[in-house]
Amino acid sequence: MKLSRLFIAVAGATAVSCVALVGCQSRASTGADMIMRNGFVYTVDSKDSVQQAVAVTGGKIVYVGSDEGVASYIGAQTQVVDLAGRMLMPGFIDAHMHPGDGGRAMTLCDLKYQTMTRKVFQETIQACLDAEKDKGPDVWLEVGSWDRMGMDGLDGDPDKSTLDALKTRRPIQVRSTDFHTVLVNSRGLAVAGIDKHTANPGDGKYVRDVAGNPTGICEDGAADAMAAVVPPATDAEKLTQSRAALDAMRQQGITSFFDALSGPENGKAFTTLELSGELTARALLAIKLDPAAATADPDKTIAEAKALAATYDQGEPKVAPGVSMRHVKLFMDGIINAPADTGAMLTPYLHNAGTDKAPKWAPGKNRGELYFPPQVLNPLLLKAVQAGFDPHLHATGDRAVRDSLNGIEYVRQQLPGNAFRPTITHAESVDPADYGRFKALDVTANMSFQWAQQAPSTVDGTNDHLGAERFARMEPSGSIARAGGRVAYGSDWPVDPLDEFLALKIGVTRSGDPQNPHSYGTKYAGRLNTAPALSRAEVLRTITLNAAEQLSWSRWSVRWRWASSLT
Ligand SMILES: [Zn+2]
Repeated sequence: MKLSRLFIAVAGATAVSCVALVGCQSRASTGADMIMRNGFVYTVDSKDSVQQAVAVTGGKIVYVGSDEGVASYIGAQTQVVDLAGRMLMPGFIDAHMHPGDGGRAMTLCDLKYQTMTRKVFQETIQACLDAEKDKGPDVWLEVGSWDRMGMDGLDGDPDKSTLDALKTRRPIQVRSTDFHTVLVNSRGLAVAGIDKHTANPGDGKYVRDVAGNPTGICEDGAADAMAAVVPPATDAEKLTQSRAALDAMRQQGITSFFDALSGPENGKAFTTLELSGELTARALLAIKLDPAAATADPDKTIAEAKALAATYDQGEPKVAPGVSMRHVKLFMDGIINAPADTGAMLTPYLHNAGTDKAPKWAPGKNRGELYFPPQVLNPLLLKAVQAGFDPHLHATGDRAVRDSLNGIEYVRQQLPGNAFRPTITHAESVDPADYGRFKALDVTANMSFQWAQQAPSTVDGTNDHLGAERFARMEPSGSIARAGGRVAYGSDWPVDPLDEFLALKIGVTRSGDPQNPHSYGTKYAGRLNTAPALSRAEVLRTITLNAAEQLSWSRWSVRWRWASSLT
């Protein structure tokens, strides 16, 4: 953030030269540490201006401008890089991802996001079991990156019997790519102690058959509960996974990342890697607030979050990457994609009142799941902000988005002048009446542009369940931007493969790239819908300056002083 801010400040004032710039006085004697010249330096300043050269001293950009102007920064020790006309721009800030899960997914039985029939699904998982014959009958097999929506379109949704048919006694759990669903076999349900008498958690459900027995499909909080039954990774395994995540980020040009669902494990792992000099991107970690705990005792929930933040948060960002923990994450709802239909909507999802051959889509009763009702959300958000946290609200459906905006409006009214930076992430379905409220309430919309393409998750059921009107405005990043709202990018990796450039491209085209293996081929070519797109300049801003604004580093010191004066 500091780098890009200074970069932008300097680029916007090239005529200013030395005034207030770090290192200016000494440059004649020692020169900059490094200069890069002869490039296409894309500044992301207010005019998206393009310069030629940059000088860096002590990890900070001290000059941006012409090749001629940078010449005086060259000293005897200066490293001079000839960019040979190539593009240089601020590092990517991925403002919503899950690096712990991403690193971990690389080590599981991996279904690799592939759309597969139930038969291929069974064969792939059987191969993983067969490759681990030495594992005892009580050791979980964990399977990741399952394209549930793709399978649903081909063969229908599976249940525990699909896994029970495999040759093993081991408990198995399969996690969907979106992380909102876990499928478990009968042995897994038994090991976890889940049966017809088990109550649903407040923020999810065990899907049941007509007799009330769990089918093996676990949604949201129930999926998390199932994942928690597996013994956690050891410290050594966690470090291996975190290194793998940082390696994947380096290959994408990510210099800062927001871990949208963190806990002490990730805080510990990234802090350890910082100490060993292996933390190659700034780590900003968000603490999940549990709806049941927050309803029962909101003060305790916030106090626990503060205590966790105090353990890992390192204060103001420095030049070298460090660890910060100053955000709280709230899941307002599930997901709007069929067949889950758990995103909270203002009006019901449609269901097929006809037949498969002659479908008749009509409103049903389901409006999705809302995990924080306003009477819990509003006072909780107020307490979180008073404690110095920025809220990061997962809201996919238009009702969850509206309730989130209402909650933020409430806090703005209670704390006028407070500089907190709220974010609504995903915002896949937004009522047009709410587009302008992102700007009015200074809320960042964090969007994953790769979802604005035709894919099994969008056009093989979700379109029918939403109906034509809602589908036509699905993934409204362009609409929110046109209404003046700030849009930032977050990959949500490993929900999708980590491919930032594909996502940026889809932000502009709102179409898949049939040539890219991380897209969905010619069957899914063409635009998602006719909702407006972002421009190239806009998408580059979403992954740099807007992401930095979402994460609001420069305001922290003031805000945390303000917060601590309250306590
Ligand atoms: Zn996420």
